Amino acid sequence: MNQDDLFKKVIAHAKEYGFIFPSSEIYDGLSAVYDYGQNGVELKKNLRDYWWKAMVQMHENIVGLDAAIFMHPTTWKASGHVDAFNDPLIDNKDSKKRYRADVLIEDYAEKQRQKAEKEIEKAKKRFGEDFDEALYRETNPRVKKYLDEASDTVKRMATSLDAGDLADVKSLIEEKGIACPISGSKNWTEVRQFNLMFGTQMGSVAEGASTLYLRPETAQGIFVNFLNVQKTGRMKIPFGIAQTGKAFRNEIVARQFIFRMREFEQMEMQYFVRPGEEMKWYEYWKEERMNWHRALGMDESYYRFHDHAKLAHYANAAADIEFNFPFGFKELEGIHSRTDFDLKAHEEHSGKKLQFFDPELGQNYVPYVIETSIGLDRLFLAVLSYAYREESLEDGSSRTVLRIPAPLAPVKAAILPLVKKAGLPEISREILNELRYDFNIQYDEKDAIGKRYRRHDAIGTPYCITVDHETKEDNCVTLRDRDSMTQERVPIQNLKAKLSESLSLSSLLKK
Ligand code: ATP
Repeated sequence: MNQDDLFKKVIAHAKEYGFIFPSSEIYDGLSAVYDYGQNGVELKKNLRDYWWKAMVQMHENIVGLDAAIFMHPTTWKASGHVDAFNDPLIDNKDSKKRYRADVLIEDYAEKQRQKAEKEIEKAKKRFGEDFDEALYRETNPRVKKYLDEASDTVKRMATSLDAGDLADVKSLIEEKGIACPISGSKNWTEVRQFNLMFGTQMGSVAEGASTLYLRPETAQGIFVNFLNVQKTGRMKIPFGIAQTGKAFRNEIVARQFIFRMREFEQMEMQYFVRPGEEMKWYEYWKEERMNWHRALGMDESYYRFHDHAKLAHYANAAADIEFNFPFGFKELEGIHSRTDFDLKAHEEHSGKKLQFFDPELGQNYVPYVIETSIGLDRLFLAVLSYAYREESLEDGSSRTVLRIPAPLAPVKAAILPLVKKAGLPEISREILNELRYDFNIQYDEKDAIGKRYRRHDAIGTPYCITVDHETKEDNCVTLRDRDSMTQERVPIQNLKAKLSESLSLSSLLKK
């Protein structure tokens, strides 16, 4: 299956099986806004729990917070979002399509890198075992040309954007001959800056109302509460504050399903450290976060780091963890060294001190911050697209299965009486009533057993528990495993322990 097809199928499957619906669909939907259905909401909640437990429960020095979406408007002046949370946009005059100028240029650079990789692949085949890839990368003129072109282009874009030289960003697009992917035309408008925050009014009368913004990131709620948490929790540096919640961005180009939404959910953690120690902690969190992803058991080749050439106004180092989505490697999570930029800016704008007295050093300072920031919806898409499989079975039939990591699956087990009579539904419901305290279980008695198995494969249910006539004799049920499709007889009394082994989040957290 090619990647385009895979992506289309994942989107269709997500809708058909109650994972994700377009928002207000009866009115033809709202661009880049989505609703999570009955199975989606469970998977999303499990992903959030996995993150929360790994960050808060597993770290003695990290605590949680749930700040409001609305914040005092000065927050966004201080954070730089009013003045600098812009994306450079450009329109193609022929297709009338709007693009982010930086994304067009990044895509061009990525194409150059791919050309280099192709050359390297060819050489690998040609030279076989003797191939020295590092040397080839540095010395082969063609490969060097492509790689230099990619990095020079990105560097020039970064310099122009930093200097606010939008004319040069346009020149760069023209010089590189970048065409509109839809019309193929190179007929571009000027590049303009566009602020991504949604504004709204608080208060009923127009004159008395003040303009508020829907938060474009959850982080600022953590910064303004830094002292509240530090003092009431008697936290000592280094320590972290974690938060999950909605964020809103008026994205210029909102495509790719739930990858780029206008309303989305972030899971962020700000780690407050001593000035001068930020690089040590930056490296620590890069590693720690990658390990968290790896514990999900998806193939390691699906992840890579991307170090930023162009840094945000607040950062002195930044890297993304990229995931190989059906449309290629894209940012899943960002790890940023945010210096003392935010706390200092809030000190200046509020007139309140946001400092920590370090008893070991005997001095006050504004802590430095390492941030880990992941989009819950992007994580959902990563897991869903990786899990989606169409499999041909030995008996010549086929099935669609979601191989979601078992502890994260929306429904953990389905209880299926073989027939709707002879006391089997009653026994099934007894088992359901026993297990539902610990697991999200579904009871399903409709249709033939094979059909019910397929239905649960399609939503990623790790186990099906079938109650048959023999159950009445031996108090055992058939436990079918989603991935291997193997079946074993298990005594009813052992079910809970058996399921706990592979379904509890601790199996991921311990990795
Ligand atoms: P991008 O470059 O893709 O726009 P970003 O660098 O602006 O992302 P950050 O500001 O670092 O993103 O936000 C942290 C995380 O929030 C991202 O890694 C991503 O997972 C998530 N995120 C950001 N914007 C969106 C969005 N529009 N829709 C869904 N998730 C998002």
